[in-house]
Formats: sequence, structure tokens, C-alpha cells
Amino acid sequence: MATNKHRVLISTSLAPAGWSILKARDDVEAIPYAPSIAAPELQARLLDIDGIVLSLTRFGTAELAAAPRMKVVARIGVGFDTVDVPALTARKIPLMTVGLANAPSVAEQAFSFMFALAKRNAQHNDAVRAGTWRDSLTTYPVDFLSKTILVIGFGRIGTRVVKRALAFEMRVLVYDPYVSAQVLKAAGCEPVTDLDAAVAGADFITVHCPKSAETTGMFGTARLARMKKTAYLINTARGGIVDEAALCAALAENRIAGAGIDVFEREPAPVDHPLLKLPNAIVSPHIAGVTVESLDRMAVAAIENTLSVLDGKPIRENAVNPEVFG
Ligand code: NAD
Repeated sequence: MATNKHRVLISTSLAPAGWSILKARDDVEAIPYAPSIAAPELQARLLDIDGIVLSLTRFGTAELAAAPRMKVVARIGVGFDTVDVPALTARKIPLMTVGLANAPSVAEQAFSFMFALAKRNAQHNDAVRAGTWRDSLTTYPVDFLSKTILVIGFGRIGTRVVKRALAFEMRVLVYDPYVSAQVLKAAGCEPVTDLDAAVAGADFITVHCPKSAETTGMFGTARLARMKKTAYLINTARGGIVDEAALCAALAENRIAGAGIDVFEREPAPVDHPLLKLPNAIVSPHIAGVTVESLDRMAVAAIENTLSVLDGKPIRENAVNPEVFG
């Protein structure tokens, strides 16, 4: 009977693997919604909802106030800056994220940017197609071998970037104030506590910390000025950790060699964004965690997370606020 069912709003961006699990549950009513839904429309649909599976739709105090039955909020992803966690915690509602599901994909995308920049893929491709062969090339590619990479954040993604960097025989520095030096050394990296000093010595810098009050603007004008002229900055974490205006200025004046940016302060990034006019920047549409395989892994994890809470057997390790389980 419909009234006894758990009613769960599900973003239509959920991959088929997630919907398949839901189909097998006759005690769950899965109600699709477009992730671009306007806030008032979403709020109007929340009155009799027990769970919501979110892509990047915001879920804050107004949504929570409109959802008296809400028992679980799950993201099809790991970032949660779009969700008001303290408000959920105050209502003892868990926020579930997909754990490891997209971490390897983001780590690979960070390397994809580093390869494209260091190996000058776009310039070489253009040169051969333009019939200029090597004549139009002004700079040679650079190797990863023996270069210093600074990894910011040693979590699910950062740890995987580190493993890949070590495989490329790089010197790996890690800045993560919340991980002990002992753990970092055991993983084959050099822990750093002075971020500015580490930035000044790095050939590649890749950001893998969450966006928070502490990390917003982490790379502004002053810190970018400490980077080597030959260094590359990669941001696949969140827009705003790197100050876009400051980054554009550094790139335009060739004060750094290049940047790979997957995430923007405003998304979708407007087509007249100054970064898009700079040849030493490469960009992608917030897609680092999205691959054929990770979409299925994330969908399965998001639905299993949601059902685990509704079934009273929560997957605690995937909760951002496990304290709500008591
Ligand atoms: P995680 O929580 O496993 O790891 C984050 C790490 O950052 C933790 O070890 C934490 O101690 C560290 N950290 C916190 N504050 C820090 C600070 N001030 N300086 C340095 N390190 C700090 O998260 P994760 O799964 O590795 O993901 C990292 C971020 O990547 C997410 O928060 C999300 O915003 C982003 N992300 C982006 C995509 C994408 O598609 N572009 C996909 C997944 C995740």
C-alpha cells in the first residue's frame, strides 16, 4: 500500500544501476525529480518524503523545514558543500555520501590534466594538424620523473593521487593538517606543515581537500605568487578553493605555467569566463568524478546508503555525521 511505502525523491541523474536496486523494493516509492529543480518547487514536494537522493541540488534549512518526515539525505557524490550538515544533524538526519565510489576517477582526472599540461597535448595536436610539425612549438614537454608534486588533502582522492605520483617516480609532498606525519611517511610521502614553503618548491600542485571556511581562497594572489613560474596548479576539488580572478591574473602574466580546472566558483562556468580565454588553462565541466564506471558505483552506493538508513541498518562509515545514529 502506497501509504506504507518509504517515499524517496531521486535525482533523475541517478545511473541505471541505482534504479535497478530500487525496482526490486516494493516497500519503496522512488519519485524522480530533475536536479535543476527550482528551490520553491523542491520545497513544495518535500512534505511527505522520507528520503532524498541528491546530485548537486542545494538542500538547506528551507528544504529541511519543508520536510517533516525526512529520515535520510544521500548525495550521489562525496562533496557536501551544497547541504546544510549542522541543520541535518540537529534533526538527527544522516547525510550519506558515496565513499570511495568516485575517488579513483577524480585521481585519474587530476593526472589527465597534469599529462595534458606537462606533455602539451593540445599544442602538439594543433601543430601536426596545422602542418607546422615542430616548427611552431616554442616549449618542450616536461617529465614527471623526479618532479615535486604537492598534494593538498590526503583523503579518499588524495591518497590515490599519491599512489599514482609515486608510481611516476615523483617526490610527493602532502599538506593535510588532519593526518599525522607518521601516516604520511608510511605512505611514502613527505608531510609538510608550512603550505607557503611547500608551494614555492612544487612543480605540480593538486587540490583534494573539501571546500570549507578554512580552504576557501586557499590559493589567492599571495599564495599563487609563491608558485614557481614553471609550476602547474590542478583543482578538481571545488570552485572557490582557488580564487579564479587571482588565477586568471597569474596565468595571463605567465607567472605560473598552467592550470587544470574542473570546478568553478559558479557552475556552469559562463562562456565569457576569463579563464576560457587563456591558452595555458585547460578546463572541464565538473566531471572529474564522473566516468562510465563511477556513475554506476555512485548510483549503487547512494541507493544502498539510503536504503540502509530506511531499513534501520545504516552504513555508518558513509555518513558525514555518524553521531546522529547515537
Ligand atoms: P575526503 O574527505 O576523503 O578527504 C579530504 C581530505 O582533506 C581529508 O584528509 C582532510 O583531512 C583534508 N583536509 C581538510 N581540510 C584541509 C585543509 N585545510 N588543508 C588540507 N587538507 C585538508 O574527501 P575526498 O573524497 O578525497 O574528496 C575531496 C574533495 O574532492 C571533496 O570534498 C569534493 O569537494 C571534491 N570532489 C570533486 C569531484 C569532482 O567531480 N570534481 C568528485 C569527488 C570529490
